[in-house]
Amino acid sequence: MPLTTHIAPVVVTMTGGPPIRDGAIAVDGDRIAAVGPAEEVAERHPGARVRRWDGILTPGLVNAHTHLQYTDFAHLASSGLPFPEWLAAMNRERADYTEARWQESARRGVHLMLRSGTTAVADVVTDPCVLTPVDRSGIRGISYLEVISDTPRWRRERRAKLLAVLETPLSRTLGVSPHTPYTVGTAAFVDAVAIARARGLRIHPHLAESAHETEFVRDGTGPLAELNRVVGFAHELLATGSGSTPTAYLDSIDALGADVHVAHGVHLDAADRAVLRKRGTAVALCVRSNKILDAGEPPVADYLAEGSPIALGTDSPASSPSLDLWEEAAAVRELALRQGYTATDLDARLVEAATVGGAAAMGLSGAGTLAQGNRADFAVFAVPVDGDPYTALVTEGGGRCIGTVLGGRMVHRR
Ligand SMILES: [Zn+2]
Repeated sequence: MPLTTHIAPVVVTMTGGPPIRDGAIAVDGDRIAAVGPAEEVAERHPGARVRRWDGILTPGLVNAHTHLQYTDFAHLASSGLPFPEWLAAMNRERADYTEARWQESARRGVHLMLRSGTTAVADVVTDPCVLTPVDRSGIRGISYLEVISDTPRWRRERRAKLLAVLETPLSRTLGVSPHTPYTVGTAAFVDAVAIARARGLRIHPHLAESAHETEFVRDGTGPLAELNRVVGFAHELLATGSGSTPTAYLDSIDALGADVHVAHGVHLDAADRAVLRKRGTAVALCVRSNKILDAGEPPVADYLAEGSPIALGTDSPASSPSLDLWEEAAAVRELALRQGYTATDLDARLVEAATVGGAAAMGLSGAGTLAQGNRADFAVFAVPVDGDPYTALVTEGGGRCIGTVLGGRMVHRR
């Protein structure tokens, strides 16, 4: 197959250099053969097919937190239910789902990702039946197997179940997602993390999403204690609590580290944020989901000013208006500005979070950047090309993806 050269008025590589005006990338099979000014790339690959794009060409976006199987639950996001009732509604609906419906919903999620320029995802998997369709789609990233269990159930059955699913033959990388500090018993959490680490797998819990979570972890009380009682979970923290914030609690059980990234990170004080930085644990911000579930606002301006590793996630349509990562970035931008972040690097930092930041959060090498030898995963957005490209992407990139290439294959074109 001949090489293809993709030419665009602006190519954003995210490898450290400035955006390339009149840039190009050459694609050979599933790999990037060259990146640079269009003239140079054309000289080096004279026989290549040429495709000209009108927009900004970027690395494929990296969505650092979603649940693809819940794509068809969008009506829940508009239900206006407070979190405990939302969770109960979610569980009622789950009961009606067959494997075929989960798979269909996950496939639709992958489709929406690709249509909006996302080529890698951190997907939290509750029902392992979705692993195969997501694997077959070729989308990159990690499928994190979710653990929700108190310690007695974990020891009785759920540990063995996780071990069995970890044996599934897939080309896709697996990880482990101990769901939250309040839905996984302490000993079960410690063991799930140990299982992941023994296999060199990455770990991705939800952390510090709501004030209720802080109350439960610190004091063992509140609506989430009630939820534990209703579902009959014998959580170690019930009634007594740990006396710590959720972040300090996870750190005390050695569940943070450079092999971990967390979703949400809303209720963290300065000491908590320092712990995440020290451990090298990135936060996948999902501010639109936080708003819909009335969870609070993450300290985005502080994360940026302090240099905490951040990534962007959409969460699932059950609690989010879309799976479009630029729409999430625009919401994060607005929040950062409202919180007083005034540095001029804001848009560049958000594009980083949507690309290299997400790849780093998941430990994906060669993703989130355009560089020779990387897999050819990229996207093009029909946004103004004359001004600052980062600002154009963050403020106008939502809904404007005109092409997505996954492993050298065009998977979306508009
Ligand atoms: Zn989530």
